[in-house]
Amino acid sequence: MENLIELDKKHFIHPTSSIQQQQTDGAKVIMEKGEGIYLTDNYGSVYIDAMSSLWNVNVGHGRKELADAAAEQLKKLAFSSAFSTFSHEPAIKLAAKIASLAPNGLNAVFFTSGGSESNDSAVKLVRHYWKIQGKPERRKIVGLKRGYHGVAAASTSVTGIPEFWGMAGHMMTEITHADTPYGSNTERAIASFRHTIEVEGTETIAAFIAEPVQGAGGVLIPPEDYMKEIRSLCDEYGILFIADEVITGFGRTGKMFGMENWGVIPDMMTFAKGVTSGYIPLGGVVVSDHIHEVLKEKSAGTLFHGFTYSGHPTAAAVALKNIEIMEQEGLVENSRKMGSALLKGFQNMKNELDIVGDVRTMGLLGAVELVQDPETNKRFPKELKAASNVIEALHERGVICRAVTYENTDIICFAPPLIINQSQVNTVVERLQDAILSVQKHLE
Ligand code: PMP
Repeated sequence: MENLIELDKKHFIHPTSSIQQQQTDGAKVIMEKGEGIYLTDNYGSVYIDAMSSLWNVNVGHGRKELADAAAEQLKKLAFSSAFSTFSHEPAIKLAAKIASLAPNGLNAVFFTSGGSESNDSAVKLVRHYWKIQGKPERRKIVGLKRGYHGVAAASTSVTGIPEFWGMAGHMMTEITHADTPYGSNTERAIASFRHTIEVEGTETIAAFIAEPVQGAGGVLIPPEDYMKEIRSLCDEYGILFIADEVITGFGRTGKMFGMENWGVIPDMMTFAKGVTSGYIPLGGVVVSDHIHEVLKEKSAGTLFHGFTYSGHPTAAAVALKNIEIMEQEGLVENSRKMGSALLKGFQNMKNELDIVGDVRTMGLLGAVELVQDPETNKRFPKELKAASNVIEALHERGVICRAVTYENTDIICFAPPLIINQSQVNTVVERLQDAILSVQKHLE
């Protein structure tokens, strides 16, 4: 058989990757199996999956219960439509389960196959919501700079990381971005949102969308009062608030959903990733009772929005089992506890190393920033690739995590599976410290 790396080069266009680098370097790692927080490649090298792969393998790898749940459903009813008046038990039960977990007043679920589809659905649903109430001019969506919402049409455009618009230009119009509170404060960030609303025209804005914690932007935890202020500004101008809980949902931040950290209830919530721990694709949008009432009352005829796989029975069966595991094993609580342990480890490390700036966690979503001077927060020159080199050094030490280096930042992100224990947390921190030390020598 032809070498896997050659076949990969010839036939596999990788998502979010450099096509040229693939051709010159080839695939660096070919993963073969997963167990708990560990991944093993085809040479037998073992890695700690400190990113839960793509922030999604919340219950860890190799769960037989999830394989069994999928197999049982596949044998019974692998797929069936949920269009029009058809329905099936797994999707009904999952919608009810998610409603029971979601913040108060969010009780109706539209299913998709992932985060991008969920955010595109949310954008279309809010525009529809305003249209059927005789306010078709309310179409604009305000996102945040450094926000990430996916790569479909609307989700690309609401994403506030310009690199994602480079590929094919803006996909959707009537979308704008306010300042993120990162590197600023609540007052300035709220002033930017208010300014955006006023410049765009208060009566033209359909919704505001934000992640509770910006993930791909670099694990940017907002100031304590920020989300409450956003909620009240949205209320003041009648703007709907969409929380993108694709990363933060299902225990990642130490609560079932990220917004619970501030007691703020959005009008819509999108989710994906952790709902199935990535064992099978699934996502969705949860809408408020008020929005659901308006839809029931005024959305006449067919809602021309639905994916073949909206409510896929096998995906729903896996999600139900995944949530059951989270509840039985107390993984939301473990996320909170181990998040604190990880923070303690980061803080101790910061005391010993000269180039560590801000360290933070919210549940098992964490970040370590590298800076040339912790006093002034001065960054290393971009060409030194400080964070990327630490990621490389960590890789050599058997830990996979991710660097965020937009706009001259050096952020190392962590999102380990929610099953991680204290000794595994210690190992991650020890190897991180060792990796930073090895890079520091070369930076000096
Ligand atoms: N929203 C957020 C906050 C995300 O982090 C992601 C994926 N990283 C998405 C949306 C897009 O999800 P998907 O890749 O499943 O389309």
